[in-house]
Amino acid sequence: MQVRRWRVIAMGIFLAIVGAALPIAAMAWTSWRVAIQKELYILDLVAERSLVRAGNTFREAKGALEAIEAAHLPACSDQHIAQMRIGTINVPSIAEIGYFENGFIKCTSWGRAAGNVAKSHVDYVTPEGLEVTLRIQPGISHGDQMTSLHLGHHNALVAPSRFADIVLRDRMSLALLNDKGQIISTQNLPDAGVLSTLPAKDGRGMTDTSLYSVVTEDGLTAIVLEPREAMRTKLVRELTVLLPIGAFIALFIVGIVIWMSRKRLSPETELEIAVRNREFIVHYQPIIELKTNICVGAEALVRWRRPDGTLVRPDRFIPLAEETGLIEPITDQVVEAIIADLGPMLVRDRSSHIAINLCAEDVKSGRILDFIDLRLARAGIRKEQIWLEATERGFIDIDAARITLDRARKAGHSVAIDDFGTGYSSLQYLQGLPLDALKIDKSFVDTIGRNTATSTVTLHIIEMARELGLFSVAEGIEKEEQAAYLREHGVDFGQGWLFSRPLPAEEFIVFHRQNKSRYGSAPEVIQVASV
Ligand code: C2E
Ligand code: CA
Ligand code: CA
Repeated sequence: MQVRRWRVIAMGIFLAIVGAALPIAAMAWTSWRVAIQKELYILDLVAERSLVRAGNTFREAKGALEAIEAAHLPACSDQHIAQMRIGTINVPSIAEIGYFENGFIKCTSWGRAAGNVAKSHVDYVTPEGLEVTLRIQPGISHGDQMTSLHLGHHNALVAPSRFADIVLRDRMSLALLNDKGQIISTQNLPDAGVLSTLPAKDGRGMTDTSLYSVVTEDGLTAIVLEPREAMRTKLVRELTVLLPIGAFIALFIVGIVIWMSRKRLSPETELEIAVRNREFIVHYQPIIELKTNICVGAEALVRWRRPDGTLVRPDRFIPLAEETGLIEPITDQVVEAIIADLGPMLVRDRSSHIAINLCAEDVKSGRILDFIDLRLARAGIRKEQIWLEATERGFIDIDAARITLDRARKAGHSVAIDDFGTGYSSLQYLQGLPLDALKIDKSFVDTIGRNTATSTVTLHIIEMARELGLFSVAEGIEKEEQAAYLREHGVDFGQGWLFSRPLPAEEFIVFHRQNKSRYGSAPEVIQVASV
């Protein structure tokens, strides 16, 4: 296999792998991002909800304290104590209300106090003016640690959990902080240390261990945390949706890569690339005048030289080239190669001729004539020095063929019918065509001396050429015996391995020079005597 094929295959495999991996990786990454964003959104909602809850707790307590302050009841009277008790009942978050005078508690919603419990220090003051002590041991009721909210002469004791008592999902935890960063309340928080690992600002994100959301409003900050593993089920859910899409895209891309590689590897595309890269060269098979042994020129035979240097014979690619329409640019390249290879020789030696094989399309359209004539004019080669060979396949559209052949001959080219006798060629058919020469196919030359049925056909063909006034060229002469027979029966020219195989340009030039010094030159214009 050639280097080019390997390169296409390697490239195809590489593109297929990348093309398959990319969409799958992209979808996995997208799943991961979407799962995180969805989870963070939930954490945000929880944080906001907890802020609303905390705000309400503060507001309710403040409302209760304001009501008592505004009542101006005689201090620690029965009505005063009753009113404080009603306050604790009406506001479920308030566990106890106390009344202070000169910094000491006088009475609480439970009754009169001994009067030796002092007002506790103030941790901070809320924007609404409540003096907050975060953790105190109730002096009177001696229950759990409480948060004290002080306004005027009264304070309300609220259990810290009351600020954050919203329902949290399984593994979430919540912390409520004031604007100094002091913890007001937590729920489910195993270790307050994790809070210090979070960025100080509001926002959402992910640390090594958790997802978090931080929301601040009116001096209160809610932090909601969740371990990263909690996201796993969400991730799985996203993956089950997005991975099949990724797999589908991957499959699609791989399909396209395979399709393109196959197309790229198809003989048709290879030939197309060969035409684009001008990979066609020409070998020249000498044409010998049988009577004199003089080399009158050569037939140009195209070869496809692949990038690895191997030569491909025309039989292997001409049919495909004809099928795909690539034959015309190939003919053009042959014409250009002839001029580049032999231009100077043809100008120097006007008795030399080169025969070009035309394809059916060339014969039908006649386009090639303009191309040939333009190139010849530029190179100073005479039109008479170029012979054209056409096979019967070119004569399917007989009228178009006649026009082209007519034009060619008027321009000065000689025209030969190639592979004569292998198709349906009839005498009648030939008579209608403007021709100069007839090429006797190798299959007939092969029969010479074999005494088979077809060997008599060979004689008929030679006869026919003479009757039609055409000169004849025999192809594929391999034995002296064949050459002698053809010479004897008046065939004008011959080509074949007996004389020479098709040669690269330089070798043909040498062959031609040696032949000339041995046998001399042919006349400039070759004409058939019998016409
Ligand atoms: P063709 O025009 O009949 O060319 C003669 C073929 O016979 C050539 O094969 C030549 O190498 C081969 N040949 C010549 N002498 C001998 C011999 O003594 N013994 C044997 N066994 N073979 C001999 P090649 O070069 O492979 O060309 C094959 C065919 O490809 C040609 O047949 C022609 O029809 C086509 N072809 C070649 N070059 C071109 C071209 O430039 N354009 C077009 N359209 N067709 C071309
Ligand atoms: Ca030919
Ligand atoms: Ca032939």
